[in-house]
Amino acid sequence: MMEDLTGRIIRGIGGFYYVKTESGKEFSCKARGIFRKDGTKPMVGDFCRIAEVEESDPDPEALPVGNVLEILPRKNELLRPAVANVDQVFVVFALSDPEPNFSLIDTFLLRMELSDIPAVLICNKTDLDEDGQLENHIRVRFEKTEYPLYFVSVKELSAGEKTKDSQMILSLLHGKCTALAGPSGVGKSSLINLLQNKIKMETGSISKKTSRGKHTTRHSELIEVDEVTYVLDTPGFTALGSEDLKREQIREGFPEIRKWEDSCRFAGCSHISEPDCMVKEKLAEGLIGQERYDSYVRMYQLSKNR
Ligand code: GDP
Ligand code: ZN
Repeated sequence: MMEDLTGRIIRGIGGFYYVKTESGKEFSCKARGIFRKDGTKPMVGDFCRIAEVEESDPDPEALPVGNVLEILPRKNELLRPAVANVDQVFVVFALSDPEPNFSLIDTFLLRMELSDIPAVLICNKTDLDEDGQLENHIRVRFEKTEYPLYFVSVKELSAGEKTKDSQMILSLLHGKCTALAGPSGVGKSSLINLLQNKIKMETGSISKKTSRGKHTTRHSELIEVDEVTYVLDTPGFTALGSEDLKREQIREGFPEIRKWEDSCRFAGCSHISEPDCMVKEKLAEGLIGQERYDSYVRMYQLSKNR
């Protein structure tokens, strides 16, 4: 009998789960047993207990084989893409090329709020800002939120140019499992390539990628930066809308708006047309950003009153 091992699922492909154990050894595992027992489907990011399977004639080229025995309790889980135990999400966008899609960014932020995952805003491609106007707009837009916001040029960082923000970003990653969310073309792969050199992500313009297809976008994978640091490219985030969300979730998902709701006259105030609404007062005082508020209203009106 071989002893049980504890590890983390770093990739899942075609019914196989690749588990990295505490000693750094990687196993290729099946998970039939636990699925039959309680219907738990393992996710990338899961911590689990595995048993090594003794093979009579092991292939020296292949990974050792194991069986997933138990999934350890999850701190959180995301469904699109399916990933568990994320410590934080970097919502990555570009100053330009492509222009930021703010409604997509606000939707990400809202979903992370609802999943209780801390979000950090990373604005890339600062080298494309000629006069600082774009950066200024973004600062103002998120100023009254509590999301940390950092500006970086992965291009300049790759060329060895370090700024205070880029140093901050690197130190924020350390010791955590960070999901990189954001549309294609904003520089996620470039950032991952900069952070480590074991796995080379394909980078390039949006049109090039879609025509050639990018194999790395098909499944989620935890990429090791160092022994305690993982990043995860999460292509599945790109297509998220907010139409499936309930109104109360929209109200809950904007922290700088939610903060005042207890002071509105009506419980369940939509903060759109009711009288004595504290949110509208704070908006008028400039304590809530106008663009974030507009985004809230748009999402609220799009969502069904369920
Ligand atoms: P992803 O789709 O989010 O993974 O984005 P990529 O990393 O593939 O980057 C898309 C394109 O933007 C590539 O051509 C990169 O070389 C380019 N890029 C990435 N970071 C920067 C940057 O800081 N500045 C500029 N100007 N281009 C960048
Ligand atoms: Zn209100």
